[in-house]
Amino acid sequence: MKQPLWIGGEYRAPSTYFELKNPYNLEVLAEIANAEQDDVHDAVTAAHQASPKMASMPAYQRAEILEKVAGYLAEEKEECARLISKEAAKPLKAARAEVERTIMTYKFASHEARRIHGETVPMDAAPGGEDRLAFTVREPLGVIAAITPFNFPMNLVAHKVGPALAAGNTLVLKPASQTPLSAYKIAEFFHRAGLPAGALNVITGSGSRIGDLLMEDERIKMITFTGSPGVGKYIRENSGLKRVTLELGSNSAVIVDEGINLDKVIPRIVIGAFSYQGQVCISIQRVFVHETIADTFIEQFINEVKKLKAGNPLDETTDISAMITRGDVGRTKEWVDEAVAGGANLRLGGHSSNGIFQPTVLVDVPLTEKVSCEEIFAPVVHINRYKTMEEAIELVNDSKYGLQAGIFTNDIHHGLQAAKRLEVGGVMINEIPTFRVDQMPYGGVKLSGMGREGVKYAVEEMTELKLISFKMDL
Ligand code: NAP
Repeated sequence: MKQPLWIGGEYRAPSTYFELKNPYNLEVLAEIANAEQDDVHDAVTAAHQASPKMASMPAYQRAEILEKVAGYLAEEKEECARLISKEAAKPLKAARAEVERTIMTYKFASHEARRIHGETVPMDAAPGGEDRLAFTVREPLGVIAAITPFNFPMNLVAHKVGPALAAGNTLVLKPASQTPLSAYKIAEFFHRAGLPAGALNVITGSGSRIGDLLMEDERIKMITFTGSPGVGKYIRENSGLKRVTLELGSNSAVIVDEGINLDKVIPRIVIGAFSYQGQVCISIQRVFVHETIADTFIEQFINEVKKLKAGNPLDETTDISAMITRGDVGRTKEWVDEAVAGGANLRLGGHSSNGIFQPTVLVDVPLTEKVSCEEIFAPVVHINRYKTMEEAIELVNDSKYGLQAGIFTNDIHHGLQAAKRLEVGGVMINEIPTFRVDQMPYGGVKLSGMGREGVKYAVEEMTELKLISFKMDL
């Protein structure tokens, strides 16, 4: 199968294609279009030309289109889950959950489209501001470039396309080269739902080449990016005065206080650490356990991890499958070996076969090891001990990242202390940091990014606030 580009409401054959392979069995799934400079230019032109139409489309119509897309996804949910599973090697259970969340994201976007509004401004609160009626309105920015990662190929596309269209913008979408088919599928749904031609364009090919072209184009008003911190920083530094939202990586941590019901908490932490092979931006990488319960926790945790079944992502019972590239398998192995050489205690895993890195548990890891201080993005977790809550919070904060953190505690003071002092975008009390529902504000501090997603919050980022002031007497 050949997948052409989607520009101006129609497919366009490119001059070259690249092979898309299933990361699990390396079978060729499709030939994917490589966008050239002219294609990128034409995609931006199509989005630019569609801007006035989208900006003047009534809110209820934008809402209806988004609602229809949620409906098409619901009708074809199994097909969509299998598509994600094949191109991303995401276990089917997780791929199905992603499709359900994508449906919710478009539904939230549909609701949000109907309630974009401003507020009145009390101008007479300042001397000289008397006799004025003033209010704000939120206007679309125009053309938005969306660049998305491989790990949630439908829902993270939805987190950009949904709010952008809800607010009356147009888009040029550049999905990850490993997971383009999910993005093209969504473009097809929008076309079927009656979105004007050019309002959503999909271009594929190398991110570094296409990215530069998008950053240089003055007609693009915003770049919304989800991906690795290195690329995010590059985009921020090269986008001039464009608005930029960055949803980047992390080495998320969870604190486990004493007195906690481990039978309840450990299965949750295992899910948070190993879902989709740990290739989730809020995957649990660091676990800090109170020293009085640490040994029991470690034994029980390892027993729970041993229950995970590795295999073909399309197998209904698979929990863990292949990592996104064989290169990532090699990198993970290197980091784990380095940690062990540095004094970490390897209690489970640490090896791979056929692209699947076995769920790996390290204990008492020196915190300067890469498996702790860098984002590993792999099925690897480490468990360390702490003595006081003060120390635990410092350990979590001792990171260049700050996306979300979790704490399990029965002590309300510990929960509140963590809420106040943890340097992250979201604190989950009695929940794993991997928790997310799609309407909540989501984003990071430090190297984890800037700006917020979660449909309502993304709409704020994707609109311009305009003040209108009416002087009552001339
Ligand atoms: P990535 O390598 O940074 O790629 C993300 C996207 O950026 C892809 O579409 C990629 O295209 C493109 N890209 C690469 N180089 C570029 C450049 N120089 N200019 C512009 N675009 C460029 O990330 P990934 O491996 O797909 O995803 C994993 C990362 O995403 C992790 O760090 C993870 O934590 C982060 N993430 C964050 C969130 C969040 O919400 N905070 C959610 C999910 C993932 P190509 O594929 O063609 O290279």
